[in-house]
Parts: sequence; C-alpha cells; structure tokens
Amino acid sequence: MKYISTRGSEIAKKSTEAIIQGIAEDSGLYVPEAIPKIPFSVTTALGEPYRYFAFEIIKSYFTDFTEDELEDCVLRAYDDKFERDEIAPVIKAGGVHFLELYHGPTAAFKDMALAIMPHLLVASMKKRNEDKRVCILTATSGDTGKAALEGFAGVPGTEIMVFYPKHGVSEIQERQMTTQEGDNTHVFAIEGNFDDAQAGVKSIFKSPAFAKELAGMGYRLSSANSINIGRLIPQVAYYVYGYAKLVHSGAVRIGEKINIVVPTGNFGNILAAYYAKEMGIPVNRLICASNKNNVLADFISTGKYDANRAFYLTNSPSMDILISSNLERLLFHLCGGDSAEINELMESLEKYKSYEVSAAIKEGLAAFYGGFADVNSTNETIGGLYKNTGYLMDTHTAVAYKVYADYRQKTKDESVTLVASTASPFKFAESVAASIGLKEGRDGFECIHYLSGFTGIEIPRAFDGLQQKQVRHKEILKAGGMPDAVKKTLAK
Ligand SMILES: *Cc1c(COP(=O)(O)O)cnc(C)c1O
Repeated sequence: MKYISTRGSEIAKKSTEAIIQGIAEDSGLYVPEAIPKIPFSVTTALGEPYRYFAFEIIKSYFTDFTEDELEDCVLRAYDDKFERDEIAPVIKAGGVHFLELYHGPTAAFKDMALAIMPHLLVASMKKRNEDKRVCILTATSGDTGKAALEGFAGVPGTEIMVFYPKHGVSEIQERQMTTQEGDNTHVFAIEGNFDDAQAGVKSIFKSPAFAKELAGMGYRLSSANSINIGRLIPQVAYYVYGYAKLVHSGAVRIGEKINIVVPTGNFGNILAAYYAKEMGIPVNRLICASNKNNVLADFISTGKYDANRAFYLTNSPSMDILISSNLERLLFHLCGGDSAEINELMESLEKYKSYEVSAAIKEGLAAFYGGFADVNSTNETIGGLYKNTGYLMDTHTAVAYKVYADYRQKTKDESVTLVASTASPFKFAESVAASIGLKEGRDGFECIHYLSGFTGIEIPRAFDGLQQKQVRHKEILKAGGMPDAVKKTLAK
C-alpha cells in the first residue's frame, strides 16, 4: 500500500516514509491509494481482544512493516497503561452505546493513537536507517499535547514540542502538560487560539529554508497531529472493534447498519469512522457534532465551508477549532482523488477562509449529518443523562449526545447508535460538576475529588498527584515566535 499527497505533486510513499514525514512536501496530507477492506471476518473475530483488531487493521494499511514489527508496536501500546482490560469498553446508557475511548494514560481518546504512534515512528526510522533525530511539532487544543508528551517522553531519537493556546485549554489540561517530565519534552503556551498554533506549525513545515537549517543541526521535522497518517490509521481500529462488540453483545445483528456519532474538532476522529465504513462496517449515518464553533455543521448541510465567523471559547475546548485539517482528506476521497480540485479548494481556504465544493462532493457528504450544541445545552445534557441513568459524560461527549438527540427527533431514525466518548468527565471536572448541580466556585482540582465523592466514580490515574507536581514548562510565545523557539530549543 502506498501513500499519496492530497495535493498531488509528490510520488507515492511507503507508510514508513509518510509516518516519518508527517505532512507531504507539497503541504498536502498523505492518504492511502485505496482504502482496504476489513482483512478478517467480523463474525469470527467477535470475542477477540482489542490488540487483535489494532494489529489486523493497522497491518492492512501499513504494509511495509513486518508482522513482528507491528506486533511489537501493538503489544507495547495497548497494555496496562490503559485502565480497562477491554481498552475501549462499550457502555449502554440513555438509548445509545458509548464507545469509551478515554481509559488511557491521559484520560482522553488521543491516547488510543498516541500510545502506538511513537513506536510506529521509531520502527519506521530504524527501517529506513534514518540518521537524523526527529523533532515532533504538535499544535494542541488541549488533549493531543498531553497524549503526545506522554507517548514520546524518553523515546530515543526524538524531541517532542507542544504548542497550546494559553487561554484555550482547561486548568487541568494545562497542568497535565506543564508538569510533563522527560528531557526530550518541551511545552509552549501561545498567545492565540488553536488555529493560530496549528497555522504556526503548518507554516514551519512549509519552509524549505527552515528544514535545511534544522537538517544542519541534525534534525528533521515530523508531526504528532492527526495530519500524520500514523495517528489516523490506529483510530480506525476502535470503530471496527466497537461494531464487533455491538454484535457480540447482541445489540445488532451482523450486517445491521449503525449510526456513529463523533464530537469533532480537527475532523480526525470522524474521518477514522469514515475509513471504518469504507472498509466494510455497515454504517447508516456518520453524525458530526460540533460545539458553538459550528463551521462543520454548516458545511455538511450546505457544501460551503466558511471560517469567516466569530471564534468562541467553550467548555469543550478540544473542539474550539475553525479550520479542520482532516477535512482535506475526506474531500480528496469524495472527489475521486482529483488533486487539482483539492488545490483549488485549499487555495481558496487560505485566501478567503472559505470555499464551496462541487456537486459530486456534496453528494458524498450525504453520508454525514452535521449538528451543533452550545454551552448551555451541553451542560443540561450532562445533567439530564446523569439524573436519568447515572451515566456521567464529559463536555465533548455531551455535545455528541445532544446533537444525536436532535438528529433522532428530527429524522425518527431508530438505528442502533455508537457515540464516541472522547474524554473522562474528570478532565473537565469544573463544567461537569456544575452540570450535575454541584456548587460552583471550586477550582478544577477540588472538583475532581468532589465529583468522585459525589458520584462514586473512581478518579483516573492520570490525575493522581497532578496538583502537587512541579510545573516544568512556563514559556509563553507569540504565534510568530514559534520557529525561533524550535531552533533555540534544539540548539541547547
Ligand atoms: C481532540 C478531541 C476531540 C476532537 O477530535 P478531532 O479528531 O480533532 O475531531 C473531541 N473530544 C476530545 C475530548 C478531544 O480531545
């Protein structure tokens, strides 16, 4: 299987090359030449452990790894750093099935991919006799940063740098990142929002002069964002696993179509669900849920992407995004791989912050439904479900659940539904505590304990002693200062 750039001006690469490089030289994103079919019978795999699904799905995409190499990556990734043996349990509540993706070391779904991606990268470097050290640049809306730091801390041959919006993450998310240990970890707050951080990283990748300078220092750049195919593909596995669990538990018959609901920011997670669908998982609708930053909801219903609008900070900060990078991959697939069309759309996005897609792409978008939920309705949804069922959601998952509830009411679609649950409620403890009627005015750390005491739900290990940990990373940058910060850090 080879990987091609969505922008079309690059020769096809092996998966190991695409993983090391992160983003294509023409600034496009790597996509597989063809999406493979699920390489096993779901019926016979029903009771298999998560590792089986991860191994088989990743193997079908990353074909230049040996089975031993891949198995080693999978075993190192999905072990007891996850707090559930199932890795990603499926829990029935409130008329849906929650696919809980947050039982990893940082308590958000980013661990599902970032637990394995560093191993895939190191194996790729070894296979390709890469002589340079790799510097990973990561823009984060809060959760990717910590998961990438955790995944790459102490990994030989790598330096990991994370850029987060100073006022765009929760207190707990910030503390998780700024207390990160490991000599190869570097964290910077940016005066700006996530889009500024992401644009800064992308512009560093775009500069041949900068790459040359770093090469002189013995480094090459890569990315741990979902623009890296090494992050996207491991995410496909949990949708196939989730479907198998639904069949195994008798919730659906084999072959019966389900809806998949995904709280969406950079469009990586829902794109992985789209890949699972294209691989053969029977899907009725892919439901894309946004918060008040509802660019995607508008796009899916009109075919017009328009980021010329106010940017809001919400209580689901990991979705406070106006430019969703991975959408480019979907557009590429939906237009039949016409990179000229993609170049036009992306040029328009850069120039006018907007574009309108062709009739063919609009037709493909019918597989999706887009909706959004604002802060108040998100909070009410958390409180309502908790009161009715005792099930506690985080703010991002609640956006998804609310958008699904609206969808169901509107369409009367009664298909069995899988909701991607992307973070532990403790990660956004202040909002969640307030939503279930606990008194406000406490800080995030107090809320974690208060929430656990009140609900009887155990606090994830990710937050053990977090408040007492020493803050090691304090630097604040202007977005324009990112290239200098990278150079200075690597020169040390
Ligand atoms: C990153 C994140 C999202 C958004 O996922 P994308 O792949 O960027 O669409 C949703 N919820 C949580 C908790 C996240 O950390």
